[in-house]
Amino acid sequence: MRVGFLGPPGAGKGTQARELAREWNVLHLATGDVLREAVAAGTALGLTAKGYMDRGALVPDDVIIGLVGERLGARDAATGFIVDGFPRTIAQAEAFARLLKDLGQMLDAVVYFDVSEGELLRRLTGRRVCKGCGRTYHLTSSPPKRAGVCDVCGGELYQREDDREATVRNRLEVYGRQTAPLLDYYRQRNQLVTVSGEGPVDAIRGAIRAAVGAHR
Ligand code: AMP
Repeated sequence: MRVGFLGPPGAGKGTQARELAREWNVLHLATGDVLREAVAAGTALGLTAKGYMDRGALVPDDVIIGLVGERLGARDAATGFIVDGFPRTIAQAEAFARLLKDLGQMLDAVVYFDVSEGELLRRLTGRRVCKGCGRTYHLTSSPPKRAGVCDVCGGELYQREDDREATVRNRLEVYGRQTAPLLDYYRQRNQLVTVSGEGPVDAIRGAIRAAVGAHR
């Protein structure tokens, strides 16, 4: 199974990718998670990425393409992957196609998560993330049992720097300008499948399974 999850920030790609990667027994490669870990660890990659991330801009293509090339070339990616939040530009999509060709692999599908802008704003500004295990919550639609504390590991919940409203608006604008053109790119290559990203998490997961299964 080799799929990409495409959609605006807050569409639920990460939530679905974490579960489905486990179910399908494939690597979950979320470029945003890799970058946040690098920032937290203070590595050279993190130092490069932080400024872009904090203002909701995209990290330069060559940086992202280098890191994805490294991860997808590794042994744990040989059985398959879900790329989540990558590609985000046409240049990244073209580099991704070249990389897969070099690896002798084919992409099964790119899943587009369709969610209205009002819903995205609501989700992103109310999102809280566990510092310990990365699980996400929402202040009103899926709050933790105890405010500020993760149900699963007891870790502290925090708001991502880039989930503040002004930055969220910028991320949505960047998505529309730089990432949305990928819908046509993958549609023209007959690789795009669309699911509604609104509704219960389990129903969306079922829709993704069905859409990817029918397309393979
Ligand atoms: P995400 O967790 O996917 O919302 O990503 C958080 C931030 O990481 C984005 O706003 C970008 O600054 C950066 N980022 C993640 N993936 C990419 C990518 N494929 N290309 C460029 N920047 C990225």
